[in-house]
Amino acid sequence: MIVRYGDQEVSCLVRQTAAVTGRIRIHVYPNGDVEIEAPSDKETGQIRAAAQRRARWIFQHRNAAITARRMALPREYVSGETHFYLGRRHKLIVNESSAQPSEVKLLRGKLVVTLPVADRAAVRRRLNAWYDARADEYLSDKFSEISGRLNWVEAHPPLKLMRMRTQWGSCSPDGVIYLNPALIRAPRHCIEYVILHELCHLVEHNHSKRFFDLLTKQMPAWESAKRELDSLAELILAGHEPAFNRTVSQQ
Ligand SMILES: [Zn+2]
Repeated sequence: MIVRYGDQEVSCLVRQTAAVTGRIRIHVYPNGDVEIEAPSDKETGQIRAAAQRRARWIFQHRNAAITARRMALPREYVSGETHFYLGRRHKLIVNESSAQPSEVKLLRGKLVVTLPVADRAAVRRRLNAWYDARADEYLSDKFSEISGRLNWVEAHPPLKLMRMRTQWGSCSPDGVIYLNPALIRAPRHCIEYVILHELCHLVEHNHSKRFFDLLTKQMPAWESAKRELDSLAELILAGHEPAFNRTVSQQ
């Protein structure tokens, strides 16, 4: 079934649900596919009208999904593409040279990778190792600094860096804090938000009002940091981890 909005059109898959009656639901998948779910009592005309009424919503979410996907395309590890580091985009420069030591350097907003044989796999490995080392150092330092200024943190809470697909951080019931090393690609204030969030869980092991009061006291602007981090998730995790995939549905 074709749905149009302005000069755009999309072919939607119509799927009949097991339900006999009920609402027509529309889903926009992360790859931009649109699916209409209709109970069996709905006729084609009704389904078309319902989808057409929501055309604006469909295209808004479909276009956003397609853009996000394009931005999150797998990295090629070639000169010219951009990689995030502490929230800033850095242009990658690949230098093939056996005369110089193999290294990764941050130079005036550029990430310069020098390798004797600079094929994509080698660049990727070298760059990821560099990110991991930077994550190790930066996140550990930040963690010590922030936990040092919180009066409820007595000793150094144990910190572990762990790759996670859908989380930036977590706090175990016995007080071990885990941070996602991919955070090294996020802006500093977003990293601070995640660390504070997890450290607040040492006091309040839930997302109660008391938890958010505590967090707000430490970081009044945490909500905007969270929003920014959420909006960057796809982009930041693309080079590091599978991107977040989210289906948008309207009922
Ligand atoms: Zn939490």
